[in-house]
Amino acid sequence: MENESHIPETLYPIEMYADTLPALDWQVHNCTSCQLYAGRTNAVFGEGNPHAELMFIGEGPGFDEDRLGRPFVGRAGQLLDKMIAAMGMRREDVYIANIVKCRPPGNRVPEPMEAKACIGYLIRQIEAIKPKVIVLLGATAAHYLLGVQTGIMRLRGRWLQYGDIPVMPTYHPAFLLRQEQEKRNAWSDLQQVMRKLKGTEG
Ligand code: URA
Ligand code: SF4
Repeated sequence: MENESHIPETLYPIEMYADTLPALDWQVHNCTSCQLYAGRTNAVFGEGNPHAELMFIGEGPGFDEDRLGRPFVGRAGQLLDKMIAAMGMRREDVYIANIVKCRPPGNRVPEPMEAKACIGYLIRQIEAIKPKVIVLLGATAAHYLLGVQTGIMRLRGRWLQYGDIPVMPTYHPAFLLRQEQEKRNAWSDLQQVMRKLKGTEG
């Protein structure tokens, strides 16, 4: 598989990124490692069960997230909440994070240097949480975590790996708000995830 041995490159040696969730949270809130720090109202570290079996990774904070300091709390977040509920879980059971922790201006896609500066935090979050399964929301998450350039239409629905953790790429909820007809495909991806969590899929 094309992503098998991919470990994202970090701006600093990984030892420079803290190794517990509270210490990482503190580091993120004081971080000035990329230009996005200048535009933030609040850094958005991520939230949820520190021992979650399921972790969702999005792109970066939008307007509402920047204002509230929490991930996925705007319209896309409301749809993500529904997706989690449909899977028979509560938001507080899972962990939700992003590739970059500060809002890109006008919600543009994070630039490579920004992702490289920030992804050390995400690598450490994954190490601390040790999820059983990761769901990547959209192409940006897949691009920066796994190094794949493939568009999400072709990428979704098939298992990839991050280290030894199975990873399911699916549509970003903001995309599903615009392309309602793709919701059935997203649901099929999430059902694969549920089967994996229950141990009924190899
Ligand atoms: N979109 C994202 O990718 N992340 C958020 O936290 C909110 C919207
Ligand atoms: Fe630091 Fe990440 Fe915010 Fe950039 S986006 S300032 S690397 S926390």
